Amino acid sequence: MTGPSELRRDPAGVHWVIIAPERAKRPDEFEPRPLRKPGGSSAACPFCPGREDRTPPEVAAIRPSGSAPDGPGWNVRVVPNKFPAVGRPDRAAGAPSPGLFHSREGFGIHEVVIEAPDHGADFSSLSTVAAGAVVRTWRDRLRALEGEAAWAYVQLFKNHGREAGASLSHPHSQIVALPLVPGRIREEIDAAVRFRAEHGICLHCRVLAEEDAAGRRIILSDADHAVTAPFASRFPYEMHIHPRRHAARFAEIGDGEAEALGALFRTVLGRLRRSLEDPPFNLILHQAPARRPGDASAEEESLAYHWHFEILPVLTRAAGFEWATGIHINPVPPEKAAAVLRRDSA
Ligand SMILES: [Zn+2]
Ligand SMILES: [Zn+2]
Ligand SMILES: [Zn+2]
Repeated sequence: MTGPSELRRDPAGVHWVIIAPERAKRPDEFEPRPLRKPGGSSAACPFCPGREDRTPPEVAAIRPSGSAPDGPGWNVRVVPNKFPAVGRPDRAAGAPSPGLFHSREGFGIHEVVIEAPDHGADFSSLSTVAAGAVVRTWRDRLRALEGEAAWAYVQLFKNHGREAGASLSHPHSQIVALPLVPGRIREEIDAAVRFRAEHGICLHCRVLAEEDAAGRRIILSDADHAVTAPFASRFPYEMHIHPRRHAARFAEIGDGEAEALGALFRTVLGRLRRSLEDPPFNLILHQAPARRPGDASAEEESLAYHWHFEILPVLTRAAGFEWATGIHINPVPPEKAAAVLRRDSA
């Protein structure tokens, strides 16, 4: 598939954008607001069982009954995005164009993980086994794509609710493989590498130890994970999920860790849903890029960086000041957010 999009770098700075006009043609099942109500109709949903021919052929699926690909009988199904932000051009990616106006083809992979057959399901309503299967599928697809030399970084994310960018309400998440390491990831990794050079310890392990000791911003804590309302939360009720075991890469977790994480997501997303009446949110993974042979910095990065998920509720709108400065204005102190999300311990 030829990517109709383009990756562009700002000549004045460091950020990249994806120009993807084809994305404007996506189907949109939502009525224009209000949208807290039931999340759209299943009547034309291309992700529902029985409509497998409405998506490109699946690249992976969990089919307990052993049913044939691209038919019903699946619990989790992974398909290429029909309206990808990036595509795989027919020819290999050319060298980036020289000069000030630097661009390259929108080269990448864009997949959709359909998390459950039930259109009305929510992550928090899945069984523990089903939630664990979603997390295992995420891990397996990340591993598979990271195994391809073309991709420098593979991003997993989930948009829930229209204000968070979802165009279909059927529970799903997305994976985008890119030929570059995005600036935001690079910044976080570089900060962690600098911290370790100075203090000899992982920044995230240190932060976690201090948060554990203080307790005020801990939302949930168990043997394997801690969920915090981060000190400098950009958004009201922002949550970060940290594994207690130091590891730079989510893609290397074991099956047991995936099961435990699935159960944790059920709990945390259920609390968010109940406490804030099912708010729109984005869920994102941050991890170190896959190690490539001969990459001298990878060893240092794997000691310094610590994978985590960020859950970003969409309750406020970034406006002039945020866009101008990159400084978010958050009306809810994280200490209060933690208290609210801790209280609902159902
Ligand atoms: Zn559906
Ligand atoms: Zn660590
Ligand atoms: Zn992060």
